Amino acid sequence: MAKFPEAMSRVFKNMYICMKCNARNRGNTGKVPTICRKCGSTSLRLKKKGKVTKA
Ligand SMILES: [Zn+2]
Repeated sequence: MAKFPEAMSRVFKNMYICMKCNARNRGNTGKVPTICRKCGSTSLRLKKKGKVTKA
């Protein structure tokens, strides 16, 4: 599989992980999700770039 750094950064740039339930919350461009869509927690962090963890 070829590497697409730009695409990858685009994907991870708007990806937020809930620190409570680890749900992936996707933010729209220019918009940051401040609340987890799953558990409603406001503890969200940006997904680390480059590290893809399959859980
Ligand atoms: Zn959550």
